[in-house]
Amino acid sequence: MSSLLRFSDNNVANGAIMVIEDNLADARLVQIYLSETSLKGYRVDVFDRLSKGIDALGKEEYVLVLLDLTLPDSRGFETLERLLDTYPDANVVVMTGHSDTALGLKSIKYGAQDFIVKGDFGADKLEKTLRFATERHKVIRSLEQAQRLAHIANWEWDFDSQKVKASEELFRQLGRPITAPLDVSWVHPDDVAAIFTAKAKAKARGKASADIRFMHLDGSVRFFFIEGTATYRPDGSVQKLVGIAQDITDRKSAENEIVKAQERYRSVFNQSQDAIYIVRMDGTFVDFNEATVNLLGYDKKELKNGFNIIQVYKHPQQRQALLTQLERSGSITDMELEIVRKDGSVRHCLLSATKIMIDTGEEVSQAIIRDVTVRRQAAELMRAKELAERSAQMKENFLARVSHEIRTPMNAILGMSNLILKTDLDQEQESFASSIKLASENLLKIINDILEVSQIQSGKITFETREFDLHELLKGIFQISLHRANEKGLELKLDLPDSVDELVVGDPIRLNQILLNLLTNAIKYTDKGNVELLVRKEAEDGRHLRLLFEVKDTGEGIDANKLDSIFEMFVQVSGDIRKSQGGTGVGLAIVKQLVELQNGDIEVVSDKEKGSVFTVRLNFLKPGTHTKPVDEVLPDTSRPILEREIHILLAEDHKLNQIVAKKTIQGEWANTKLTIVENGLEAVNALKSGEVFDLILMDLQMPEMDGYEATRIIRDELGLKLPILAMTAHAHIGQDDKYLEQGFDDYVLKPFQPHELFVKLVKYLKNLEDK
Ligand code: ADP
Repeated sequence: MSSLLRFSDNNVANGAIMVIEDNLADARLVQIYLSETSLKGYRVDVFDRLSKGIDALGKEEYVLVLLDLTLPDSRGFETLERLLDTYPDANVVVMTGHSDTALGLKSIKYGAQDFIVKGDFGADKLEKTLRFATERHKVIRSLEQAQRLAHIANWEWDFDSQKVKASEELFRQLGRPITAPLDVSWVHPDDVAAIFTAKAKAKARGKASADIRFMHLDGSVRFFFIEGTATYRPDGSVQKLVGIAQDITDRKSAENEIVKAQERYRSVFNQSQDAIYIVRMDGTFVDFNEATVNLLGYDKKELKNGFNIIQVYKHPQQRQALLTQLERSGSITDMELEIVRKDGSVRHCLLSATKIMIDTGEEVSQAIIRDVTVRRQAAELMRAKELAERSAQMKENFLARVSHEIRTPMNAILGMSNLILKTDLDQEQESFASSIKLASENLLKIINDILEVSQIQSGKITFETREFDLHELLKGIFQISLHRANEKGLELKLDLPDSVDELVVGDPIRLNQILLNLLTNAIKYTDKGNVELLVRKEAEDGRHLRLLFEVKDTGEGIDANKLDSIFEMFVQVSGDIRKSQGGTGVGLAIVKQLVELQNGDIEVVSDKEKGSVFTVRLNFLKPGTHTKPVDEVLPDTSRPILEREIHILLAEDHKLNQIVAKKTIQGEWANTKLTIVENGLEAVNALKSGEVFDLILMDLQMPEMDGYEATRIIRDELGLKLPILAMTAHAHIGQDDKYLEQGFDDYVLKPFQPHELFVKLVKYLKNLEDK
């Protein structure tokens, strides 16, 4: 919008003056007067409409606006109102007619700087007005600048006009355009009431202040400190409030952060599982949390009233060490500490502390104690468990190794005694040889017992479930024991009624072991009278059977106070050393384990006069409930017969064992041809040479090439299918079927009973004949 008229001298350094006047003559007059003043350096823009003037004010700054109140687009006081409502800071001098002096005064009240009466002012008056306006303009500018720097705006609440005006700074801080009318919606809804409360207060007391939240145009909340002072009318009533508004958002948010941080600290403090507390250097408490109460076991009252932290130190000198360290470095981390609770129990803790200064200026120790008792116990348990596992493993390895080392020479001793006993001996020699054999068998039993124990303890024992003839098994046990009982002149009885099932499903080998053990003990510890094995059916249903076995003797009995311990490992209660010969004190321990692992139970009743009764209860399945076929339970004691000449390859590095095997086999079957080689490699070479063998007996551990490798070559490279039987002192070999996977057909455990060896040989050689 261009001005109606624009005039100036050459220099316009002082700015521009606006004249809003529709009467061209009046405008000219202003121009003439201006040129007569000593004021120089102004440009003058003349507009003939209010709207044009307001437009121009939006674009450019004017040091002064000379405003005619009677214009084509606005008349009277409203003209000033419109202009000042849009630009409250405009520097307006109103031009009125002669009759309108009152209007001029009203204008000043409303915000105009001055008024001049048309036709009644000259160059002088204009100059004065202009100078005043210019100065005022400068002052306002620097005030604004100051306000901007201080984030302080000023405001005015006029109760005559009911208008609120504020300086630019407020608009700037709220992101609002300068021209926007102040609106109550700029105030945070929750704080509107506070404004009116403050207003009432200021009216009543002359002064008031409040923290009020305003809404920035971008939606964010700004905090303002508002302060107002009352200005009075001559009659003493309040005419308006003037004051300042200072943006304190940054300070507020810093305060909020502090409050929040304090709240956070408080919640950590209260909810912490660790004891957190502040103590003075003398050991009394300043503050503590709930966890402290729980850890120390003293109640709050006790802690608050003169309690000294040193009371809970198991080693009070640690507190002095802690203070010294705090003094030196200001903090301490994870100090190991033993705390004695009120009830006397001790907790293992880690303490961290920092020296801080509290409000009173006093230096105190802020500490945190973590109870690590449980963690420590868990760690100790873990270590103990690992140790136990490691030692169990070591024990097992040791036992396996030792038993292997003993079994190999035992094979030679037992084998040789068997062979000697077959030769012509005089009576004395025969008794010596028998003694050697007996002693060796006892030794073997001990080794087997120890191995058995290690198997049970390492959980490696498994039980079979197969059908077998119970009566036949019991009679077998009876037969074996009969011989021993007769030797001692004892009567042996078997009480086995027909009501007890013949065929049952279970583990016959273990049952044999359990009962034989009990009977052997009964005979061993009885010098006169009788020993009886009694069997009864206790309970049954369609599928299950519960059998009761009783082994009774009329022997020496067992002391009542020793009854419990006889089932423990390596316990022998008999005072008679002679009787414990051949025993290790593990027999009953094994029996108990074997019974209990099959969900059975065992108990003993004993009387020093009458003797002992061992009772075993065991569960079995009924036949037909299980699919495995009836198997051979006891070894076939008839002599195996071979009809033809056979050729066996024996791979064995131990010289004595070579002789035992050769003599044992040829002693039974004289026309057996035996080729003996020293190791696996020689065995493979013997086969490669084209010689034909019916069967191979293969030691496992041999120099140069062991039995496993040789067997692999025979099966995989030579493609031969002849039976290969492993010979080993490793009692664990039968535990899984690994030997089968490795190409063996079966195994013979060293030291072998000649009969067992023959049975196995016949089994595989017969298979050949059948083909
Ligand atoms: P041992 O190998 O010594 O026989 P056991 O574990 O079989 O070991 O038995 C432990 C101890 O219990 C024996 O040493 C013996 O003192 C006692 N004992 C076992 N059976 C009887 C029995 N029938 N009569 C008397 N004492 C027995």
